[in-house]
Amino acid sequence: MAIAKNQVVVVDYKLQNGNGDGDLIEETFGSDPLSFIFGIGQMIPAFEANLENTQEGDEFSFLIEAANGYGLFEDEAVVQIPLQQFAQDGKVSEESIQVGRQLTVQDQQGQTYHGVVQSADSENVTVDFNHPMAGTDLYFTGVVRTVRDATESELDHGHAHE
Ligand SMILES: [Zn+2]
Repeated sequence: MAIAKNQVVVVDYKLQNGNGDGDLIEETFGSDPLSFIFGIGQMIPAFEANLENTQEGDEFSFLIEAANGYGLFEDEAVVQIPLQQFAQDGKVSEESIQVGRQLTVQDQQGQTYHGVVQSADSENVTVDFNHPMAGTDLYFTGVVRTVRDATESELDHGHAHE
């Protein structure tokens, strides 16, 4: 069965930075394969475009440039937040501004953003809101394990069941 919309696709893959010699970012070989419903926005569109019309047993390798993956690294997404905004009961704990700490902020529209603390001084905390893989060219190699129609409850839930 060739891959098309509303099918559950199970793949094993290896993701490397840039090309087949690049640093390993993640892989499913040796652990659980990835299952997703094709064509409903679960995966980055370029990933699905590269798998479209492949079938069970097909091997694949393709490059998704950063701009088509998790986006380019944007300097504007690295922002300074006044230290005082990290205060609780008037005090800023060291833990709350520790470099590498992940945090989630919400804007007035209720949209949430995930960031990572990069640095802090006596006035500001610098937080990087870029996606952790922003600026990374994604090189995938792998194999399509199975392809099947999604069940109604899977389509309802928007994810594959095992
Ligand atoms: Zn479910």
